[in-house]
Amino acid sequence: MKVLLLFTGGTISMVRDSKSGALHPADMATFQSYVPELFAGEIEVDMLPFEPLIDSSNVNPENWSRMAHMVYDNYEKYDGFVILHGTDTMSYSASALSFMLHNLDKPVVFTGSQLPVGVLRSDAKENLLTAIEIAAAKDENGRAMVPEVTIFMDDELYRGNRTTKRNAEHFSAFNSYNYPALARAGVRITYQKQFIHYPQPNVKLRLRDKTDCNVAVLKLFPGITEPVVKAILSTPGLRGVVLETYGAGNAPSCDWLYQDLRDAVERGIIIVNKTQCNTGSVSMGQYAVSLPLLRAGVVSGYDITTEALLTKMMYLFGETPDDNELVKELLQSPLCGELTNN
Ligand code: ASP
Repeated sequence: MKVLLLFTGGTISMVRDSKSGALHPADMATFQSYVPELFAGEIEVDMLPFEPLIDSSNVNPENWSRMAHMVYDNYEKYDGFVILHGTDTMSYSASALSFMLHNLDKPVVFTGSQLPVGVLRSDAKENLLTAIEIAAAKDENGRAMVPEVTIFMDDELYRGNRTTKRNAEHFSAFNSYNYPALARAGVRITYQKQFIHYPQPNVKLRLRDKTDCNVAVLKLFPGITEPVVKAILSTPGLRGVVLETYGAGNAPSCDWLYQDLRDAVERGIIIVNKTQCNTGSVSMGQYAVSLPLLRAGVVSGYDITTEALLTKMMYLFGETPDDNELVKELLQSPLCGELTNN
């Protein structure tokens, strides 16, 4: 069994600077010296580093394309892939890769840690070694056990495009609020096969890595003013907006808000309603305060995360540049398990 370990950086690989006291990325050799077990097991592991290693706060769509290429270019040589990545933006990267790697039939497991690998109480080794085991795991028919882009952290394996970083302190950094865990690692790793997404048979992996960053998040709050809304909606080149609403997709009853949203939709901007709640789905029309959004042409994001919605928009605008109607339709349908629309 062979696994490729892509090494992008993050806390897992960091050391403390003696002068400033701040954590910054170390090099691959230092990292390897802390985890000799990596190369002593039954699974053969090769490492491929990013040059330079990055704190994931610096990740961008170009990096996502690079990660997707690293998987795509090495696809036939390995049974699975593990991507070491900082936790801060891991949910964005895992979401982006889930869209870019179309019809994936091998595991791509993101992992990281809350404490650097060299620290005594670090969660790095357990996360990394279990992620490698998951990336190599096969079912009784010899198929990859989890042929999806996932995040493994603190004993739970989640579909990557369903995750959100929820904790800056605890080892359990992520949660998947609207979709169950795909596996749990205790003494044994227990896979929840009924929740795993399998690719279409006999369709090869396709790489689609074009993106368009002309997107924005507009988060509603009590007292929000029209100049703020107008400033966002009149951003030059803007193509898509994640409208973060209340509860089941509700907004304040302000005529100017509805009018500004309607004008933006008429200018060809796609506005998707995403609830500010972690759990649950948008249901426009359930309350009188969401009906005007529907009438303004705002579409539903259902139970998608902001991370998945933003990266999905970037991906769809990049890959389908001239077809707004198609993008609108695809934003309301699951492409790889990122939302439930029924
Ligand atoms: N700032 C770090 C990063 O995301 C945090 C972490 O890895 O947990 O790269």
